[in-house]
Amino acid sequence: MDQIKIGRFIAERRKGCGLTQMQLAEQMNVSDRAVSKWETGKAMPDSSIMLELCAVLGITVNDLLCGEVVTMENYNKQLEERLVELVKEKEASDRRLLRIEIVAGIMSVVPLIAAIVIANVVPMEEWLASLIVGVCLIPLLVATPFMIRIEQTAGYYECAKCGHKYIPKYASVLMAMHSGRTRYMKCPACGKRSWQKKRIGKDKE
Ligand SMILES: [Zn+2]
Repeated sequence: MDQIKIGRFIAERRKGCGLTQMQLAEQMNVSDRAVSKWETGKAMPDSSIMLELCAVLGITVNDLLCGEVVTMENYNKQLEERLVELVKEKEASDRRLLRIEIVAGIMSVVPLIAAIVIANVVPMEEWLASLIVGVCLIPLLVATPFMIRIEQTAGYYECAKCGHKYIPKYASVLMAMHSGRTRYMKCPACGKRSWQKKRIGKDKE
């Protein structure tokens, strides 16, 4: 325990609270000499008044004993690092989802195209050709709602008018005209319609 550092810290916090040594002494029911001794590192505040002193100075006992507000700083730093990590994880998972969507799209469209080609090239009864195309249409029908859901929730759409980034409603994404991943939608912030690009990060790009 660094008494000099703790003393300086007490003085700094006292001044921060707009108190003179005398005023703090009165509040704590001790002599102003006692306060002076704490602040010069000659004595520690008695444990019986430590909690009250910390309350007056707006710090925790832990802060007092460390001679600085360390706990909150570290806490905030850790929290910030965790938040940055979470954002990175979301961006990575969004990118992954968008890749999955491409694969799902290809896997559901290729059999359908193959079926259409076969039905037209190979001589067969008309009902059989329709059946083959119909069956090969199923994967696309099944995959489409999932693909639209990914389009809706992975990353953000950016309004071309005001730059607002947001996650639109499923119905807006479903109904919107689109070119690739860019969709013509109404911005909830400015209310204008524009071709809105898909963005992964909310604050960069
Ligand atoms: Zn806008």
